Amino acid sequence: MREVISIQIGQCGIQIGNSCWELYLLEHGINLDGSPKTKEELLASGSSASVGHDTTANDARTFFTETGNGKQVPRSIFVDLEPTVIDDVRNGPMRSLYHPEQLISGKEDAANNYARGRYSIGKEVIDKVTSRLQKIAEQCDSLQGFLIFHSLGGGTGSGFTSLLVERLSTDYSKKCKLDFAVYPSPKVSTAVVEPYNALLTTHSTLEHSDCVFMVDNEAIYDICNNSLGVDRPAYLNLNRLIAQIVSSTTASLRFNGSMNVDLNEFQTNLVPFPRIHFPLVAYAPLMSAARAAHEQHAITTLTNACFEASNMMVKCDPRAGKFMACCMLYRGDVVPKDVNAAVSAIKSKRHIQFVDWCPTGFKIGINYEKPAFVPNGDLAPTSRACCMLSNTTAISVAFSSLSYKFDLMFKKRAFVHWYVGEGMEEGEFTEARENISVLERDFEEVGLDNLDDAGGDDEDFDEY
Ligand code: GDP
Repeated sequence: MREVISIQIGQCGIQIGNSCWELYLLEHGINLDGSPKTKEELLASGSSASVGHDTTANDARTFFTETGNGKQVPRSIFVDLEPTVIDDVRNGPMRSLYHPEQLISGKEDAANNYARGRYSIGKEVIDKVTSRLQKIAEQCDSLQGFLIFHSLGGGTGSGFTSLLVERLSTDYSKKCKLDFAVYPSPKVSTAVVEPYNALLTTHSTLEHSDCVFMVDNEAIYDICNNSLGVDRPAYLNLNRLIAQIVSSTTASLRFNGSMNVDLNEFQTNLVPFPRIHFPLVAYAPLMSAARAAHEQHAITTLTNACFEASNMMVKCDPRAGKFMACCMLYRGDVVPKDVNAAVSAIKSKRHIQFVDWCPTGFKIGINYEKPAFVPNGDLAPTSRACCMLSNTTAISVAFSSLSYKFDLMFKKRAFVHWYVGEGMEEGEFTEARENISVLERDFEEVGLDNLDDAGGDDEDFDEY
């Protein structure tokens, strides 16, 4: 068994984590208290786990531990530096799903300050978290890696994540670390210093994370608004949509199947250089129940939709960049012949440009398990879905936009004293900013065609 440990950090990470576990329970036919659903319960709930496929808990064992009496416990921990969000989980509908030792909270919050999350307050909690993780890891047969959920803008989500990821990279250097990071948006933002926190985290985790799936709250908000008909989306609306995407991304780890391609294999295809590890995620169909009833969701339609900016989880224009790799993850009622036809058609579209050093970078996986949907959710239940993970230079706009906001404040050294007061050196700001500039340049360089380089000054390319 190749187990995966999920780590949910700070308010955002914990709340998204909760929505993910809610969905995994539906997918694997498990009740809110962790007991497996009976046949009757499966039929009554209309869970996808009931429809024809063998979704025994076996498939779920990568994500769940089974206790002696058959109860399924998420292989995960929830961490926050203050108690209120974890208390909501302790008192919420899934309170008996989690083991109390999985829920770790401190006494003082990080006050939107990366330096408190990483240096002052975070230091008090880190040992407890790593020893709990060690205990969970020791119970695994063959630990595959970690999924980490957090915001980039919050004090705990930024600073504590950065501290923990550094520790994981020492303690579990060979294990894969995948990161789901919520990118701050002024539409849903809670603090002016979020660009500082986000940039500092990106800098300090760049060498330690293998792959970061960024989720831009503004993109998610707009999808809820424009495609799902939710007037004023709340965090729960955003989180359930994010959970659907996380579920599609991780389905290959939780279900077996002949055309199922493991996330590890996708990662090999997606990350051509260690630092260029920020795949853009797109999902289709994104439709409310009212509209979906009139649609067929043909494979070609789903495939094409994944290339539209309105289906992407980060606000960027894929036509303004070049793709290095595209991984298409289909789920449900899907025929390989239709997939091949849809992907061939996409390859011939002129506006979808690939870098010339990787001209055919498509990788396809099919998971025949149907997607599950929370009852009465915003997203219409469908029998198939497509999730695209692509590595495109277009995503670098997320970094330039952060850098711009960072510079506006940092020129005046605004708010910097809060960070220095928690034991951080001002030099870390400058270092982080430089590192992100280099990252932006890395993206520019990978987007250059070999032929373009021929006219440049670079000696390495003289022979061309
Ligand atoms: P922390 O607990 O100190 O890490 O702080 P938060 O997690 O609250 O971080 C604040 C950032 O996370 C802001 O950009 C918020 O918009 C975002 N955020 C907070 N809670 C949620 C949530 O439940 N869902 C989403 N999508 N974003 C959230």
